[in-house]
Amino acid sequence: MILDPFEYYAPISLDEAFDIASSIGGDFKFLAGGQTLIPMMKMNLIKVSSIIDLKKIRSLYFLEEDKGWIRIGSLVRHAEISESELIKKHLPILSYAAGKIAHQLVRNRGTIGGSISFGHYAADLCVVALLLNAKIEVIRKGSTRYVEADKFFIGPLTTDLRQDEIVKSISFKIPEEKYGWSFNKLVLSHGDFPLLITAVILKKDEDKKESGVITDIKIALGGVADTVVRAKEVEEFLIGKEVTEENVLKASKLASSIYNPSSTLEFSSNYMKRMVEVYLKRSIIQAYNRAQG
Ligand SMILES: Cc1cc2nc3c(=O)[nH]c(=O)nc-3n(C[C@H](O)[C@H](O)[C@H](O)COP(=O)(O)OP(=O)(O)OC[C@H]3O[C@@H](n4cnc5c(N)ncnc54)[C@H](O)[C@@H]3O)c2cc1C
Repeated sequence: MILDPFEYYAPISLDEAFDIASSIGGDFKFLAGGQTLIPMMKMNLIKVSSIIDLKKIRSLYFLEEDKGWIRIGSLVRHAEISESELIKKHLPILSYAAGKIAHQLVRNRGTIGGSISFGHYAADLCVVALLLNAKIEVIRKGSTRYVEADKFFIGPLTTDLRQDEIVKSISFKIPEEKYGWSFNKLVLSHGDFPLLITAVILKKDEDKKESGVITDIKIALGGVADTVVRAKEVEEFLIGKEVTEENVLKASKLASSIYNPSSTLEFSSNYMKRMVEVYLKRSIIQAYNRAQG
């Protein structure tokens, strides 16, 4: 568990960070909260010759409302996201999910930029970013590009990010209409990495108070494939349907027939498939109930 030696740089501006990156080249990594990178280095799963620590770069640290969007600088920590009144008001699912990551020590250090850049297939904030199709601001020296979350998470621990690019911010559109939401995850014990996440936002027909018809729904899942996924077939099945026991069950079974989560040390793939059904059913009903209230 002892780290191999590496060069350490702590720039105070983005320009300085990019200058260092281009001068050292090779197998460097940017460092944010260190809650993934450092454990992976300790376990010899990632080897680097240099680390460029981003933490002193003030321009990566902001949380603001801007023309109908919430813009979050990449260095904002999970704890700050969960406690932000702005996020609680406009994006309660994001606040809730950030507050459920691991435990307080991890939330005090881990950053949204680190989580999104790493792109783990069951990371809480990757699931929410995909669900809400967040816009990711990616910069390199002299250029900026914006990538929507559904094009950012592209494979097993693989994102659209190049080695010399930095995620500057993640923006979420403030919903203009009322949505119900739900975020559920299966963990072995408190603080563990999720085995499965089901996240739903849903809009119902306002005219039908009792048995509402779903007019819009988005479903994102973590832990069912090699990256986070949108369950588009299930969304299509549910749009225009009433939220009845039968329809919700059919939708959940459809999801569990599509995805084949890997077996874990504790659970078989078949058990995980069954959990997809159970958790998604729960999430659809919770989101529907919130849309009513
Ligand atoms: C005990 C433990 C439990 C955890 N449980 C959970 C959990 O339940 N759910 C969950 O979602 N996560 C969990 N995590 C992971 C945690 O959320 C991490 O904080 C997060 O994944 C990475 O954020 P970080 O700021 O620590 O990034 P780092 O570890 O510093 O970096 C992670 C990767 O992203 C790159 N990177 C970081 N910032 C940027 C940037 N701005 N631009 C470009 N590249 C960048 C780094 O080069 C590195 O490859 C857990 C971690 C630990 C240690």
